[in-house]
Amino acid sequence: MFRADLHCHSTCSDGSLSPKELVALAVEQGLQGLAITDHDTVAAYPAVLEEAREKGVEMISGVEFSCEHREHNVHLLAYAFDIHHEELQSFCEAHKKRREQRYQGMLRKLREGGVDLQEEVVEAHSLGRPHLAKLLVDQGRVKDVKEAFQRYLGDGKLGYVPSSSFGVQETIDLIHRAGGLAVLAHPMLIRRNGVLRDLLEMNFDGIEGYYAKFPRNQEERWVLAGTRRGWMVTGGSDFHGAPKPHIPLGASWVGEELFAQLRERFRENNLK
Ligand code: AMP
Ligand code: ZN
Ligand code: FE
Ligand code: FE
Repeated sequence: MFRADLHCHSTCSDGSLSPKELVALAVEQGLQGLAITDHDTVAAYPAVLEEAREKGVEMISGVEFSCEHREHNVHLLAYAFDIHHEELQSFCEAHKKRREQRYQGMLRKLREGGVDLQEEVVEAHSLGRPHLAKLLVDQGRVKDVKEAFQRYLGDGKLGYVPSSSFGVQETIDLIHRAGGLAVLAHPMLIRRNGVLRDLLEMNFDGIEGYYAKFPRNQEERWVLAGTRRGWMVTGGSDFHGAPKPHIPLGASWVGEELFAQLRERFRENNLK
């Protein structure tokens, strides 16, 4: 049976496997299709497409954008866009700068609070709190990531700097200009009803109805919300590797029919 995992992270953001290793794991797990959706970066592409071709895994372009709506953090998935689209590339660059500044700000706050961390070179294009958590663990300041967030990185804690990102509507518009499909990621994680209501009124092309972290009986609501609006219903594991060891690649997936729509759009945009 054809299965494609449309949501996973590599070392280009906060996953523990390189894009190449992700492709190898997809083969091992018997997946036929894959999209790598790193946070705010497409650095895994286009090199990984070659790798996937060799290993016989079908890939489409993907990315997970961090946005803001009414001071609430919202994740958008984009698929099948033109990988080389200039505006999308510079949008990712802007995110990279934004993330670097916040990362440095958090390091500074920790230092001022008496936690002086040795900076390490991180190969990720997209830095975040998980990278700082790893520094705190590796340098013996805390015993694990959980404690790192509890003591230093959680909202309002010593090292915390709030993130401010781009808006949802401007991100959807950018995705569309790059020829891509904009998908509302893991709607079940949006806790504020007002925010969710706003989002469900916007011009998305899809909603992530199948998500590994959530039990099957909770999917129905989102599948219904999507189909009622004529949206695609996508799915994926949100695999990160070591940071979330309880979620395997392929834990959620979509079938051939949905993937075929994405494949077609991807080809239109990239095989010109
Ligand atoms: P950032 O985007 O830099 O604010 O980091 C957010 C990421 O940190 C989330 O996607 C989670 O993976 C991780 N995270 C947030 N809170 C916690 C927590 N309490 N324990 C472990 N990881 C967390
Ligand atoms: Zn992540
Ligand atoms: Fe997310
Ligand atoms: Fe994710």
